[in-house]
Amino acid sequence: MTLRAGGTVTKDAPTSPGPDTTETPELRFPPDPAFSAQANAHPEIYAWASADPERFWAEQARELITWQTPFTEVLDWSHAPVARWFADGSLNACYNAVDRHVEAGNGDRVAIYFEGEPGDTRAITYADLQEEVSRAANALGALGVTTGDRVAVYLPMIPEAVIALLACARIGALHSVVFGGFSAEALHSRIQDAEAKLVITADGGYRRGAAVALKPAVDDALAKGAPTIQHVLVVRRTGQETAWTPGRDVWWDEALAAASHQHTPVWVEAEHPLFILYTSGTTGKPKGILHTTGGYLTQAAFTHLNVFDLKPATDVYWCTADVGWVTGHTYVAYAPLVNGATQVIYEGTPDTPTRARWWEIVEKYKVSILYTAPTAIRTCMKWGEEHPAAHDLSSLRVLGSVGESINPAAWTWYRRVIGSDLTPIVDTWWQTETGAMMISPLPGITSLKPGSAQTPLPGIGADVVDDEAHPVPDGGSGYLVVSRPWPAMLRGIWGDPERFQDTYWSRFAGLYFAGDGAKKDDDGDIWLLGRVDDVMNVSGHRLSTAEIESALVSHPSVAEAAVVGAADETTGQVVVAFVILRGGIEEDDGTVEELRTHVAKEIGPIAKPKRILVVQELPKTRSGKIMRRLLRDVAEHRTVGDATTLADSSVMALIAKGLDKPP
Ligand code: ATP
Ligand code: MG
Repeated sequence: MTLRAGGTVTKDAPTSPGPDTTETPELRFPPDPAFSAQANAHPEIYAWASADPERFWAEQARELITWQTPFTEVLDWSHAPVARWFADGSLNACYNAVDRHVEAGNGDRVAIYFEGEPGDTRAITYADLQEEVSRAANALGALGVTTGDRVAVYLPMIPEAVIALLACARIGALHSVVFGGFSAEALHSRIQDAEAKLVITADGGYRRGAAVALKPAVDDALAKGAPTIQHVLVVRRTGQETAWTPGRDVWWDEALAAASHQHTPVWVEAEHPLFILYTSGTTGKPKGILHTTGGYLTQAAFTHLNVFDLKPATDVYWCTADVGWVTGHTYVAYAPLVNGATQVIYEGTPDTPTRARWWEIVEKYKVSILYTAPTAIRTCMKWGEEHPAAHDLSSLRVLGSVGESINPAAWTWYRRVIGSDLTPIVDTWWQTETGAMMISPLPGITSLKPGSAQTPLPGIGADVVDDEAHPVPDGGSGYLVVSRPWPAMLRGIWGDPERFQDTYWSRFAGLYFAGDGAKKDDDGDIWLLGRVDDVMNVSGHRLSTAEIESALVSHPSVAEAAVVGAADETTGQVVVAFVILRGGIEEDDGTVEELRTHVAKEIGPIAKPKRILVVQELPKTRSGKIMRRLLRDVAEHRTVGDATTLADSSVMALIAKGLDKPP
């Protein structure tokens, strides 16, 4: 089978998510030679990086980042597991993201195309951005915020979210972003943990066609007691009625108008903290992950440039992530701007006003690089191909995925329907803790395998090990670990060094334990199998959530699936599956049995779910990840645990009701 413009696939690659198998090791998408010829990265990069990883990273740091004081030290691992990278250098993250591009004559380049949900737009050039971040930095200073202080950011996805982060970085204050969708309670606990001095918020934001108030949640959070907070800086977004505490509350536009548009960045040491970000809480109590400046920016810029094959002057890049999670930090606020790219920021939901909104945006701005999450792709599959088909998506040349394993069926759909059967797809594995991408194919080099993140990036040492920390042979499975310090690695958990040690460094001596299960296929490529906590044990067989979910999603009727293990007296655990059917498909008497048989055929009888429940929605975090821990609570008839980071808390009640029905 030949693809439209060069690029052939071996074997019979299914072009629709039809009856392909879950794991299709024979399914390969070799790079298109035309793409390879123009790619930023060349195959030799792997050998070069592995010959001397520290030198490799030092060269990236010198090439991609502008230093105020050049560094002479590369890595100091003597205080392991807290690394110090480029420690005697100094720099400023905001200067790297903004000012240097203006100084280089690119002030007129658009940094941000903003698309508000109601349809309002803004085009912000690098010169505009420099003025805005300077005013904001001066305004922060006027409110008493200085280097080392913490600033909580609770904003919708508007340009001010990026400007607020950069303004903090400009003065060396740490930002701690809390998802705009989180409750007052979640905001309060994060403000308290970080002892923040200021909150930056907005009157509200637009979601699903309505102006949703944000400021009341801040007021509620502060009413619970937050003695460290001195001011609340409020962006006017919706213009809605907003309760006001005089003396404490300050309008953003007024504060910026009163501030000078000139500001000299505060030069900080490479190891100066840049931000705290609380992980999304898929697995339990959120941890304040601490990142610092020099190493973080280096790996962010390197991965963004090479994994997306970014051409800053011509590409239009769009990462759909909210600034409230790490992808919105590294691949919206920092990397694209540090690399001088033009990016799109969209405020709202993908189905407002229609289910074609994303594809309208791609067509309108001629987006060439799109980075999103498997959950979004599966949702689009569920909605049907007619929405993307109605738009010209031919500008797209690289597609990315992050957040969960992408089911092979979703991968092939993404490439065929969104990528014109042509674009490379980069499945990027990383975490809040890793700061930047760690495992991913490189477009133009890697022969792609749907469903696999494949290869540690150049300069990164990642492996799959067994219980005794021995690397598993090809074909084996075990735990994903990182074997060498990397520049963007977390420097700790805010205020809790012990938890840092226990969570990541105690399981295997000298190795970073990521908490994910993984396997190596016969070529040594890495496949993520789901969180170790979610791995099921059925009659002594270890089963992966990702594999069974992919088997379910490969069935033409299924749009999304979540699988958990529920305790069972005879088998240890039984597999319980929750599935969402594709648009237009109704559940009938045979559906559940057909899906059970399908899983048995794809993986084996042992993986056959004992129960399958057809549901309308799955419990997800705001970043779109399935919260299997809550489903496990339901499946085991327990009280549902901490659901404060759930996007829609009504989902759990509906599911619990469905499960009470007899099978
Ligand atoms: P918490 O740590 O609070 O439970 P979280 O792990 O969901 O939350 P993130 O740091 O945003 O918070 O997510 C990282 C995790 O997401 C990884 O450990 C992995 O389980 C999953 N993940 C991310 N990218 C991929 C990918 N490409 N393939 C498979 N899994 C992925
Ligand atoms: Mg995690």
